Amino acid sequence: MTRFEDVPTTPERAEIRVAIRALCDRFDDTYWSEKDREHAFPHEFAKAVADGGWLGIAMPREYGGAGLGVAEASIMMQEIGRSAGAFAACSTVHINIFGLHSIVKHGTDRQRQDWLPSIIDGSSRACFGVTEPDAGLDTSKIKTRATRRGDRYIVEGQKIWTSTAQQADKIVLLARTTPIEDCAKPTDGLSLFYTDLDRAKVEIREIAKMGRHAVNSNQVFFDGLEVPLAHRIGEEGRGFRYSLDSLNPERILNAAEVIGMGRRALEKAVAYAGERVVFGRAIGQNQSIQHPLAECWSQLYAAELMTLRAAALYDSGAPCGAEANAAKYLAADAGFAACDRAIRTHGGMGYAADYHVERYFREMVATQLAPVSREMILCFIAERELGLPKSY
Ligand SMILES: Cc1cc2nc3c(=O)[nH]c(=O)nc-3n(C[C@H](O)[C@H](O)[C@H](O)COP(=O)(O)OP(=O)(O)OC[C@H]3O[C@@H](n4cnc5c(N)ncnc54)[C@H](O)[C@@H]3O)c2cc1C
Repeated sequence: MTRFEDVPTTPERAEIRVAIRALCDRFDDTYWSEKDREHAFPHEFAKAVADGGWLGIAMPREYGGAGLGVAEASIMMQEIGRSAGAFAACSTVHINIFGLHSIVKHGTDRQRQDWLPSIIDGSSRACFGVTEPDAGLDTSKIKTRATRRGDRYIVEGQKIWTSTAQQADKIVLLARTTPIEDCAKPTDGLSLFYTDLDRAKVEIREIAKMGRHAVNSNQVFFDGLEVPLAHRIGEEGRGFRYSLDSLNPERILNAAEVIGMGRRALEKAVAYAGERVVFGRAIGQNQSIQHPLAECWSQLYAAELMTLRAAALYDSGAPCGAEANAAKYLAADAGFAACDRAIRTHGGMGYAADYHVERYFREMVATQLAPVSREMILCFIAERELGLPKSY
């Protein structure tokens, strides 16, 4: 398969790319389509990434991480997205890479010591419980309650779309600790916890969905889950602010993943366009096949440059909200277009599971919706960058 030129980078980053590519090449399309068909979690892949020491790429060195930045982590995630595992492979490890940033930033030494090493070595698995059925993108309206009782909180409520909850032993949980009516702002009164997903008090039901079948998403029901005070991250009532800290890096990593996935789809399309002969010539000789693929190449490259820019800003400590959101927006559109075009280029065979592009496409659809929708990104940019009235 054609390997497209990589954007020039530092020797260290180039090494990361090569190493991750080699690791991912051990898990081919056959492996991933079987996992997808059987709805089976890719434990072998997860273990290989953990064994390679990659889960701690952006975690502090004192807890076993590599202490690198989002720029390096996004190269890693772009390569994982570009592998046969596409979004499923990314989602297998995504939360380990930056999902626990709130603990790094706001946790106590004891919490970091207790929790980070096992996430970094892969012996513990966390899931992320923010989204709720009745709140949607308006996180301030979540209804899951954590009520203080002495030295613990009692959690009641429901989360939805919680990815990897079937395998997770821990959850990063956002819950309301002060009723919204008693808060100065709707985003006050929410607290963040990192706690055990105790199956005796938590019911997990898988959601039937369109794609990324190897990695489950779930409804999670809390019925009296006891959470010790020591499992609260930072101060009570400031959880929403803490969760904002990891939003920009998450958008950047997600953009990188999607660019990788788009590249893979494009590579498949280009290979097929060169091989498939109809009317006595390769279909890739027709401009109506060539031009959309060239457009995809350009859009993916532009999205990659925006992603690199956002990552560089983040790693230097500069504000990067607009750039991180724009990177996610551009990547999702470019990646979607590449997957769509890969199917069309394959004609009828694009619809056949054996050619894999239909799996990439099904997985790519989710990136238009989560972790943030394109509409909300445009609302944010219109308000913050263009000075237009807040519209949500
Ligand atoms: C595969 C997958 C995995 C996920 N994994 C996780 C996870 O692990 N943990 C977790 O917490 N969540 C997870 N999510 C949830 C995801 O973050 C949400 O689906 C996403 O935030 C959108 O929320 P919603 O589905 O409730 O959409 P809604 O908020 O109901 O929005 C529906 C539509 O209306 C649009 N809309 C709403 N309000 C406005 C407005 N004011 N202006 C313009 N448009 C508007 C939105 O853009 C969207 O298109 C996952 C979702 C998917 C699909």
